[in-house]
Amino acid sequence: MDQEVVLKNVLQSEALPTLSTVASRLITLTAREDATISNIAELVSKDISLSAKILKVVNSAFYGFSQSIVTIQQAASILGINAIRSLVLSISFLQPQGRQQGDMDFIRFWGQSLREAVIARRLMAAVNPEMAEEAFVAGLLQNLGMLILARAYPEEYSQVEEALHKEPLEREQVELRLIGADHTYIGSQVVSHWGFPETLILPLRYHANPQACDSADAEHKRLCQVVHLAELLSLVYSCPDPQQYVDLFKERAGQMLGLDEVILDELIETIHEEVAQVADFFDVKIGEQKSLFEILQIANAELSVLNLSYEEMNRALVEKSVKLEMLTAELKKKNQLLEQLANVDGLTQAYNHRYFQNFLDQEINRSKRHGHRLALILVDIDHFKKLNDSFGHQAGDEVLRQFCNVCRGALREYDLFARYGGEEFAVVLPETDSDSAEKVAEKLRQVIIRHEFRHGCHISRVSASFGVYALSPANEPYSKSEIIGFADHALLQAKKRGRNQVVSFSNKKKWFGR
Ligand code: GH3
Ligand code: MG
Ligand code: MG
Repeated sequence: MDQEVVLKNVLQSEALPTLSTVASRLITLTAREDATISNIAELVSKDISLSAKILKVVNSAFYGFSQSIVTIQQAASILGINAIRSLVLSISFLQPQGRQQGDMDFIRFWGQSLREAVIARRLMAAVNPEMAEEAFVAGLLQNLGMLILARAYPEEYSQVEEALHKEPLEREQVELRLIGADHTYIGSQVVSHWGFPETLILPLRYHANPQACDSADAEHKRLCQVVHLAELLSLVYSCPDPQQYVDLFKERAGQMLGLDEVILDELIETIHEEVAQVADFFDVKIGEQKSLFEILQIANAELSVLNLSYEEMNRALVEKSVKLEMLTAELKKKNQLLEQLANVDGLTQAYNHRYFQNFLDQEINRSKRHGHRLALILVDIDHFKKLNDSFGHQAGDEVLRQFCNVCRGALREYDLFARYGGEEFAVVLPETDSDSAEKVAEKLRQVIIRHEFRHGCHISRVSASFGVYALSPANEPYSKSEIIGFADHALLQAKKRGRNQVVSFSNKKKWFGR
């Protein structure tokens, strides 16, 4: 919808607030060049209840005049035409029948507007005291457009509030999107329609964006800035991050009005008391006014609670991830252990039969692929039964353990030593030809016979027999079990020939011919 269409609807709407007769006439009167203080006093005096309110406010601490003011004439001559007009407008908007209508939270609205009026007046008093009353009424009415839109478009306006509650958007943008016109346009147009002077129209138009005010009159610009700042500071009462608005307020008040930190801090510290007083003078119920200081403290406390729970959460997460890491490391260790258990013989810690079979498979394939030689030695301890019979099985076990250690110590790192079963062992020698394998077997034989096998208080001498088979992959059609068979046959030969010796399998023909 077009902004003008919305304005037309608003102006025709029964929901549009009406200006009191006196206020309306006063505006017309003050717009005339020839208006005098006496004309104005005469007009205002006709409304007895309005006059009583004006005298009450004028004689209050709000103005702080030393002498008491008893007539409107006296008030008008002391305050001046514009200030009286501002006062009349403020009173007529703040009177109860003007406040409590419609769906919007009107008490809250006027409470907030009053706060903005007081802040605007204070700021203006610091830079140009003569304009303080204008700043008050401009601050009070700057968001009149919101009230008007909320009355004319109650459903849409509650959607606006809802949207703003959910995320930090520009109010004007949301109003434009959901209603078709924003409150700065509507507010300023309505008061212009009522005949308000430019001094009051411009702050309504440009309070959200004072830079946009291109009036040649510096005081007009200043009014726009002052009400803008007043709204900024007032937001502290309703936003989730008050410190942010206090900082922004201070920064902009410094830039726009050249006010120093001391004045601004004093304003921030005392403004709540002034708001409470002014509300009292104008008979406006706004409830207890927390100090800005208190609000910041509450927000900080809430923030630290949030931070605390965040830190706690973080700590818990770190603890969990550390535990997880430890568990993972433990699991890795256990898996390695399990793998080892699956591959290693429990008694001797040598690789077991299963591992030997897999290893031999792999090495046979590898030697076929690369044309490497590969040798296998089968070892059987001689007369082991006797040892068991003489010293018992535990002594036999101890000898088996030592036998493995001795053999392993004599082998290269990449040779495999495994327990084939009982007192039989296998040695797989990658990239080794028949001669070298025989030498390895001979070396093993010698270290074994030289070793003193101690068990309990006894020392035993042990020998072993060796069957060697080396394959040359270029012309090797044999399977793994055939290869093991050749080495086993050689071992058998070694046993047959008197034990404690190395025999290499050489005569395949003879072996197959048997
Ligand atoms: P040979 O020289 O012909 O090989 O004679 P041997 O006595 O070594 O051979 P045999 O096959 O007759 O006996 C092997 C013995 O090894 C029998 C068995 O009790 C023993 N043995 C096998 N495994 C273990 C073991 O784990 N611990 C102990 N203590 N003895 C074992
Ligand atoms: Mg045996
Ligand atoms: Mg044996």
